[in-house]
Amino acid sequence: MTRFRRSNDIEVSISPEFDKEYNPGEAPDHPGIYRCGGCGCEVVAEASKPLPSENHPRHSPAQGRVRWRLAVAAQKEPH
Ligand SMILES: [Zn+2]
Repeated sequence: MTRFRRSNDIEVSISPEFDKEYNPGEAPDHPGIYRCGGCGCEVVAEASKPLPSENHPRHSPAQGRVRWRLAVAAQKEPH
């Protein structure tokens, strides 16, 4: 699970970008922390660079295939 110290650093978003699932090797639209829907492992990804397909914990049949979902989006522009 993603952890953080200061609640001022993050805020809840209902943007649909957080619902999109990516396959291993696919390049995400947004930079940030991505979480595997099967095993829960997390990776840091840059926009337009492929999400990992190797070095991933082996899934049990119940965990299904590897699919990445945006957990925490990084934001370039200051607010
Ligand atoms: Zn996984």
